[in-house]
Amino acid sequence: MEVLGENVSFQSKTDHVVKEKNTANFYQIITVFFNRSPIPNELADTYRYYQFCAIVRLLPLAGVATYSSVGLALFFAWSSVNNSFLLVWSILLTMIATSELIMWWVYIIRDPDNSRHVSKKMVYFLALKMSVAGILYAALVIHLFSLFTDYERIFLFSIISAFISSGGWMFASIPLVGLMWTISVSAGLIFGLLYFFGDTYLLLAVLAALYCTFLCFVIIISSRQYLEGLMAETKIENQHQTVSLLLNDFEEKASDWLWETNKKGHLRHLSQKLIEATDTDADRLLTLTYIDIIESLLATNETNSATQFKKMTRALTTNSDFSSIVIPVNLGNETRWWSFSAKILLDKDKKFNGLRGVTSDITSVILREREMIKQANTDTLTKIGNRHFFNEQLLLLCSESVNHHSPCALMLLDLDNFKMINDAFGHAAGDGLLVEASKRLKENTPQGAILARLGGDEFAIIVPNASGQSIMRALSEKIKYTISEPWHYGENQIEIRTSIGIAFTNQNIGSIEMLLRASDLALYAAKEAGRDAICFFDPAMEETANHKSQVLSEMRKSISDNEFVLHYQPQLDLITGKLIGFEALVRWQHPKRGLITPIHFISIAEESGLIIPLGIWVLEQACFEAKKWLSDLYVAVNVSYIQIERTDFLAEVKSVLHNTQLPPHRLEIEITESVLMTDQTPAFQFLMGLKEMGVKIALDDFGTGFSSLSYLQNLPLDKIKIDQSFINLSDTDDKTCAIIRSITQLADALELETIAEGIEREGQYKLLSDLGVKSGQGYLYARPMQVDDLPFFIESKRKLP
Ligand code: C2E
Ligand code: CA
Ligand code: CA
Repeated sequence: MEVLGENVSFQSKTDHVVKEKNTANFYQIITVFFNRSPIPNELADTYRYYQFCAIVRLLPLAGVATYSSVGLALFFAWSSVNNSFLLVWSILLTMIATSELIMWWVYIIRDPDNSRHVSKKMVYFLALKMSVAGILYAALVIHLFSLFTDYERIFLFSIISAFISSGGWMFASIPLVGLMWTISVSAGLIFGLLYFFGDTYLLLAVLAALYCTFLCFVIIISSRQYLEGLMAETKIENQHQTVSLLLNDFEEKASDWLWETNKKGHLRHLSQKLIEATDTDADRLLTLTYIDIIESLLATNETNSATQFKKMTRALTTNSDFSSIVIPVNLGNETRWWSFSAKILLDKDKKFNGLRGVTSDITSVILREREMIKQANTDTLTKIGNRHFFNEQLLLLCSESVNHHSPCALMLLDLDNFKMINDAFGHAAGDGLLVEASKRLKENTPQGAILARLGGDEFAIIVPNASGQSIMRALSEKIKYTISEPWHYGENQIEIRTSIGIAFTNQNIGSIEMLLRASDLALYAAKEAGRDAICFFDPAMEETANHKSQVLSEMRKSISDNEFVLHYQPQLDLITGKLIGFEALVRWQHPKRGLITPIHFISIAEESGLIIPLGIWVLEQACFEAKKWLSDLYVAVNVSYIQIERTDFLAEVKSVLHNTQLPPHRLEIEITESVLMTDQTPAFQFLMGLKEMGVKIALDDFGTGFSSLSYLQNLPLDKIKIDQSFINLSDTDDKTCAIIRSITQLADALELETIAEGIEREGQYKLLSDLGVKSGQGYLYARPMQVDDLPFFIESKRKLP
């Protein structure tokens, strides 16, 4: 049932549509006939209303004319014509005239807006009334014709012709009405003349027919013009509506508004958005110029506000087009950014007549841009500036420093023990350390200076207007002091140490690259100076660096040219004085510069990686030589952390021992704590491997690095080698004695042997043996000696009691 019901209603709707379509077609045929361009269906009713009203508005005139005609006819023709005809005629015309007046009152006076609907029937009815009126007029004229003289007839014909044409004009907006009127009067006249007077007035009848035809054309043409006018008006109205709809929509929805200024720069109309934004009443705003309004809102705290405002003032006063001038404005507590674009308006004489523009609130775009710039410039971990930011700022501040003739200082900082802490406590600790260090650096960064993290544990501070070394030294000391305050990580208390290198732009440094290199050299010097130091760039550093690169290039060749030699320094049992072994120490027999000690090339060899082939050569040589000695003597070989880190040095040791047939227990590998500062896993594996093979391990330079009890406990060490810096002082300094004593006690507890290096005086030897140090080496016993001197030395020692 439901479905049927739907079907029925669907059916009836369709029927209705079809019916509408048919009538519309008929009406359209008529309309199309009168109009070149067809009227759109949806506008047909409206147009009909306008056409109808155009006629109805004039109906009072027609009514008055009709009443007058009736009055005149009754006055002049009463009793001279058939009275009953005149009476019927008068009544009919009066009725028509009265109905016209009623129509006028209903459509024009009573309800001008609400009665907008005019049916097609109303039009047909009006047309019918006009044709009846026309026929009535024609009938009266024909009737009067028989009573008048020839002269009067011509006069009457002229009057009726004027009457027809004025009616035709009056009703032309609906051609059907106009034509019905014209044709009915003319047809009535022609018929009357021919019917009642035969050929007498043939000419007049022909004239009337011609006149009627002409008038019909005029009606059709003027009705077309009227309709075309209506259509053009509708089109303009529609466009206007669409445009204002779009503009309203634009102003309501978008964050933009349109504005227009007059010649004097005052706004011609006010947008609600602007009124709200300024929080000022409209009347007051209209008394101000647009630039005054903008100035009152200007966010002067924004860096570029003054420049942008100047640009805007120029744009608004030079009377030319402009686009995208961004002005920061303060609205309440918030800063927003408005972008202005405008085109000039010209008057009829092509003279400047103001500006028409659009203001867009681009706050979100600016904030997004700023956020993106911030992200691109910020180090994600420490939230301080990153390398990109540093590069930009360095360029900016350095060029400013050149322009203002005031030097700019670049301070590079490197956390000395970062890698070790990172390896010992894990990456989370490393990250925490970097964050903490950044925080402390930030607290100490002077106003106007720029702090950035360049990567890893390297930081930089650019200090503009840095007038001299003393200020920078004071700043560096302060930074070093703050950084060195213990940092608590879990249960651990960690000390952070920094090396600082500083260079100034006025140190004959011509470019950013040179400044960076200079401060890098200074930092390098600080690290070389034993870390935890502050170094200022000195041109001599450049020479050292150049010298270094020269050494490096020479060294590459020297390995293949066999320019290296090993010297051996004896190690003795401090109690028995017995020779126990030798430490192999490398030297470079330079063809020009003579014998070069390792301090001048080992670090370069480490940096360049040349230590790897050199280290293998040293190991081979030392083992080969040791094989020749008495079976109770060992050889100690120094191994750099680079060798362990970058190669499978354990395999190398194995193969060398195999090739030389030296028993593993006669080889001792000396490592420093730097081995443990790198990745601990390979170092640990290396040491365990040595232990398994039976090779001895000694921890060299003990006491100078990051000495941690956990190392001593966990690593498979055999010996601790007390650094010579302690030995140098030991016979005079109580504090050092205490340190040495505690080292020996610690070694005893861990069942490790102790050896002292750099024993030069008898007193030192005595003290060390008293403190419980087992063995030692030093100039007191022998300097490192050439391989040729070894047999004699060994022999001389054997002879000792
Ligand atoms: P080191 O391992 O601490 O070697 C001891 C250094 O102290 C040697 O300097 C030695 O000549 C010196 N010395 C010995 N007794 C005394 C003394 O009584 N007084 C003083 N003032 N000095 C003494 P050298 O030979 O110049 O070696 C310096 C450093 O070079 C070594 O320090 C070691 O770290 C490194 N080195 C030497 N040979 C090699 C090597 O083959 N491989 C590696 N990786 N490093 C080596
Ligand atoms: Ca050594
Ligand atoms: Ca040493």
